[in-house]
Amino acid sequence: MTDIRSLSQGELEDLLTQWGQPRYRAGQLFDWLHKKGADSFAEMKNLPAALREQLAGECFIATAAVERKLVSQLDGTVKYLFRLRDGEMVEGVVMRYKHGLSICLSTQVGCKMGCSFCASTLAGFVRSLTAGEMLAQIYTASRDLGERIGNVVLMGIGEPLDNYEQVLRFIRNVTSPKGLDLSPRHITLSTCGLCDQIRRLADEQLPITLSISLHAPFDEMRDRLMPVNRRYNIAQLLDACRYYSEKTGRRVSFEYTLIAGVNDTPACADRLAQLCRGFLSHVNLIPVNAVEETGYTHGSEREIRAFQERLVRQGVNATVRRTLGADISAACGQLRRQEQHN
Ligand code: SF4
Repeated sequence: MTDIRSLSQGELEDLLTQWGQPRYRAGQLFDWLHKKGADSFAEMKNLPAALREQLAGECFIATAAVERKLVSQLDGTVKYLFRLRDGEMVEGVVMRYKHGLSICLSTQVGCKMGCSFCASTLAGFVRSLTAGEMLAQIYTASRDLGERIGNVVLMGIGEPLDNYEQVLRFIRNVTSPKGLDLSPRHITLSTCGLCDQIRRLADEQLPITLSISLHAPFDEMRDRLMPVNRRYNIAQLLDACRYYSEKTGRRVSFEYTLIAGVNDTPACADRLAQLCRGFLSHVNLIPVNAVEETGYTHGSEREIRAFQERLVRQGVNATVRRTLGADISAACGQLRRQEQHN
């Protein structure tokens, strides 16, 4: 069975012409799958019944059904637990900003990367998502909310660059003028730092925003928090980021989760400032979300501000991320984990 939502329009044309269909049918099918976000062939009324039957016999449409939905009473953030066709669950979060809706998507079921502060990795890795399953998360949420989603952040469960081919396929389809027609500038890809893949992505010359989960400015500390650092250390990571920035002309964004007593000391701020010097970058400070199993907490508001101000005084472009959906456990992996425990 062919996963039809993951195919490009060109691949759809090849498939349908092999079946003896005129080329324009591929355009109609792509429109149903991506502009209208159809989840079944039966609703594609402008396709001949015989073609719909053949599609249903030889292909399937990747879906992401709403298993649970939580709406924040504080800021309207919506958190979804999506059920995929094989019963696996992933999370997606829709956030409301002045410039419109933004969705944070999952790219894998579970994660192999083992970051010590992250709930998504606690139960290990199950499988990677297909491009169609990533797209389905947007279409389902958009249909459910009755609103257009104009920004995408690949920062949910999983390491996007560990699922490189499907993520690229996703980006190509979601930016297609025949589909959602999202601007690549409205897509952010977040990685824990797979340097070879960062360079490969830079060579694709897609103007998407690269966001690095940095979280520690010293190698010994990052080795402990993020095992990926033992494979690619901070110096190698910064080299890859510089390459990305030079190739794409885009500034790189660094995510830095503040964990009380671990990485929020003045020495950490000074070292972080040093790393960012001479570099087109931005630092996003994120007070850690308490996850029972990790035992981490964040410092007081005053301590967080002090850390930020110390960076800014040293010329770093640093902001503290507003906590959205604080009342609905919006941190990545927490809802899926609760479901596993039930
Ligand atoms: S932070 Fe990202 S890369 Fe690290 S374990 Fe969690 S999902 Fe994986």
